[in-house]
Amino acid sequence: MRKHEELTNPSSCMNRARDDEWTFVLLGRDAAAPAAVRAWIEERVRLGKNRRDDAQILEAERWIVTVTAEQLAAKVVAVPGHRKTVCKECHGLGYLEDTPSSPDEPCCNCGSTGHVWLPDGTTA
Ligand SMILES: [Zn+2]
Repeated sequence: MRKHEELTNPSSCMNRARDDEWTFVLLGRDAAAPAAVRAWIEERVRLGKNRRDDAQILEAERWIVTVTAEQLAAKVVAVPGHRKTVCKECHGLGYLEDTPSSPDEPCCNCGSTGHVWLPDGTTA
C-alpha cells in the first residue's frame, strides 16, 4: 500500500497492529525492500501461514513488481521531450512525451486515463 492508504485504510496492516505491537516499515525507495518482501513471502509459505494464491501473497507479489519498476524508473535518465508522470488511478510512475494531450494517454499499469506531471527532478 502507498503511505496514505496504509494510514487511512482501516484494514491496513498498520491499522490492524495492536497499540503495543512492534512494526517494521519498508520504504519503496529502499533497494533492499523487494528482496525483503520476497523473503517474507517464502517464509510465510514455508511456515504454512499462507498459500501462494492467497490474496495477501498476491498483493505482496504486486508490491514487489511495482516497487521494482518504480526504482528502475527513478534511475532512468530523462529523455529529451519526455517528462515523468504519475497515474491518477494507480499512482504508477511513467514517462510521457511532453505534449498537452499526453496526460490523457492510457496508463501502462492499470489502463485508466489521466496522469499528472511530476516536477523536474522528482524521484520515486
Ligand atoms: Zn494507472
